Amino acid sequence: MKSFSRRSLLGQSLRMAGAGAVGLPLVGAVEKGRPDGASSNERRLKVIVAGGHPDDPESGCGGTIARYTDLGHEVVAMYLTRGEAGIEGKSHEEAAKIRTAEALKACEILKARAVFAGQVNGATEVSAARYAEFRKLLESERPDLVFTHWPIDTHPDHRAISLLVYDAWLRAGKKYALYYFEVMSGSQTQQFWPSHYVDIIATEARKRAACFAHQSQNPAEWYSLHEEMNRFRGMECGRKYAEAFVRHVQSPDVSLPLAL
Ligand SMILES: [Zn+2]
Repeated sequence: MKSFSRRSLLGQSLRMAGAGAVGLPLVGAVEKGRPDGASSNERRLKVIVAGGHPDDPESGCGGTIARYTDLGHEVVAMYLTRGEAGIEGKSHEEAAKIRTAEALKACEILKARAVFAGQVNGATEVSAARYAEFRKLLESERPDLVFTHWPIDTHPDHRAISLLVYDAWLRAGKKYALYYFEVMSGSQTQQFWPSHYVDIIATEARKRAACFAHQSQNPAEWYSLHEEMNRFRGMECGRKYAEAFVRHVQSPDVSLPLAL
C-alpha cells in the first residue's frame, strides 16, 4: 500500500475542503481523498490553542476545541501563564496552584491536553530570549494549526502570547495555519472582523462547563458576554451559536476544518 505523510494528506484534504465545501468536517474530507484506506492515526491533526491565561483558550475557542476533539484530532491548550496574579488575596504560588487545577479540569471537559509555557501573569515578557524559548516549545508540538489571541487587545498578556506565536510562525516559515480568536470583545479584543466561523451548537454546553471550571475567575460574571458573542457570531453566519476567527492572510492556503 502506498503510504502518505500526515502533512501531504492534510494539504490534500484541506485543499479539497477549501474548494467550496461548507461546514465540511475534516475527517470526511480526508476519507474522500484517501486511496489507501490507511489507519485513522494518519489523519489526526495537531491543533494548538495558545492563550494568555487559564480560561482564555476555553472562552475564545472552547466550542471549536470540543468539535475537533470529538472528531479525534489532538488539541493542546497552551497557557502562557498560570494566572498567578488573578486571585485577590492569594499569593502567586497559591493562585497558580488553584488556576492550574482549574485549567486541567477544563481540559478534561474539552478532551484537550494542557501545556504551560512558563511565564508569569501580569509580568509577561516579549524579548529575543522569550521569542526563542516560546518558539522551541511550539515547534516541539509540531502543530498543523495554531490559534491565538488577536493582537489588538487591552490585556498585555494577551498581546504577549499573540506576538510570541506570530514570531514562531514567521520563523517556522509560515508552514502551519495561523488563526486568531477573540475574547471579551469590546473590553479586551478590539477591532476584530472575522474571516471564518465554526458552528458550536453541538458543543456550547461543554464550552460553558469548561469556562465554569474556572471558579476562581467568577465565570457567572463574564460568561454571559461570551454567550452574547457566540450568539452574535452565529447570527453573522446563519447559525445559532458560533465562534469566529481571523485567518492570517499569509497562512498556508488551507481552509479551517469545520469552518463556515
Ligand atoms: Zn486572559
